[in-house]
Amino acid sequence: MSNIALNVAKFGGTSVADHEAMLRCAQIIKSQPETRVVVVSASAGVTNHLVTLSQKVLTSEERSTIIEDIRVIQYNITQHLSAEANLNNQIDEVLKSLTELAKQQDTLQTAKTGDAILACGERMSSIVFAEVLRSINVAGVAFDVRDVMQTNSLYGKAVVDIEALATNCAQSLTPLLTKQVIVTQGFIGKDGLGNTTTLGRGGSDYSAALIAEAIGATGLSIWTDVVGIFTTDPRIASSARAIPEISFGEAAEMATFGAKILHPATLIPAMRSSIPVFVGSSREPEAGGTQIMQEVASKPTYRSIALRREQTLVTVKSPAMLHASGFLAQVFGILAKHELSVDLITTSEISVALTFDNPTGSTQALINQAVVEELEQLCEVTVEHELCLIAIVGNGLDASSGLGSSIFNNIEDINIRMICHGASSNNLCFLVNEADGNNVVETLHDKLFV
Ligand code: ADP
Ligand code: ASP
Ligand code: MG
Repeated sequence: MSNIALNVAKFGGTSVADHEAMLRCAQIIKSQPETRVVVVSASAGVTNHLVTLSQKVLTSEERSTIIEDIRVIQYNITQHLSAEANLNNQIDEVLKSLTELAKQQDTLQTAKTGDAILACGERMSSIVFAEVLRSINVAGVAFDVRDVMQTNSLYGKAVVDIEALATNCAQSLTPLLTKQVIVTQGFIGKDGLGNTTTLGRGGSDYSAALIAEAIGATGLSIWTDVVGIFTTDPRIASSARAIPEISFGEAAEMATFGAKILHPATLIPAMRSSIPVFVGSSREPEAGGTQIMQEVASKPTYRSIALRREQTLVTVKSPAMLHASGFLAQVFGILAKHELSVDLITTSEISVALTFDNPTGSTQALINQAVVEELEQLCEVTVEHELCLIAIVGNGLDASSGLGSSIFNNIEDINIRMICHGASSNNLCFLVNEADGNNVVETLHDKLFV
């Protein structure tokens, strides 16, 4: 299929929140015959309900209330469809198994059961969306992504086996595309033991990119609730504006450093396989959006500002580090043993500052007592929370003069906790207190972009 236009479209939670929203998405698919695969998120609000079921110990009444709220979200969509009874049966089946899983989880509290719970949202929205497509005469068919999206068993942040995905898609998904539009689930997969896994919150963007790569798609469209990637989160700065074109490198930095518009890993498959990505609003498809590609004509010094909350700063200090070799290797050895990946790092003569991302939805303290105790065998350890990371994304940032003053002179009264600059030409980032985050983004956006 390599020379034929073949597009994958992904619709996020708000795009599939209700019948009206789903219908708008279905019309987009109908108007784009080259879109043969649709990846959907759970209807807005459903995953958050599922997170509560999977993480909190609840009474049976509390569990039933949540499950009924989910049923209402789905039934409010199916009531507009002629296949309502049949769809409701399928939803009831998923919710029946959810009821059992949620009950078990109250005593079990395992990540494995947690993932089986979290997957229920996408399982339902995909069934319903396929029917919405059929209601406007598009041959939509729901397809269980777990039949192709093979992962390891790292529940909650499972790693996809890319080769297996390609083989599985060639065998069981691609042959279906000539006659049907496949509607499948983002965010979920299956491990070698046959258990359901999830790829991390917001993971549907990444699922869509992986599927686009696996089937040799020529384009990927991410349909969301904003008309493209903005110069910063429009919910933080009202003066933010949409960016018509952006390079993979810049967009990847934005996603990595907290721009929620794209899951951090989304652009990895797209870059690897040179698949252009479009980001637009399913509410206003005619308003255009952002094209993300390898090379773009405009390369402004400042492209956007991203904000990532819930950062943890760990400072390790040891006089023994002075002129000693191997200290950092030991610190990293301990972190690797606990599967902690370091984000940013700065060093001084006798101390090292490291930051860690605290993915939304995680309940456990990332840097727990065991890690601290092990590090304390080596050095003095300080752990600080309630920090956020601000990333200035652009071009040639490593070689621009006056950068420091144009950024930091505008936020003189802010306590900057760490600055990382020079490793990438696309990014300069620093840490500030959580309470200062929005203000810093707004101030810098007004100075650098307006
Ligand atoms: P979806 O459910 O479609 O995946 P998300 O809520 O995950 O949507 O992502 C869209 C949201 O990302 C927007 O509503 C916006 O608030 C936020 N966002 C953060 N940074 C940016 C940015 N730079 N440009 C556009 N939106 C952004
Ligand atoms: N439904 C999942 C979430 O809310 C995945 C996604 O929407 O991308 O995190
Ligand atoms: Mg998202």
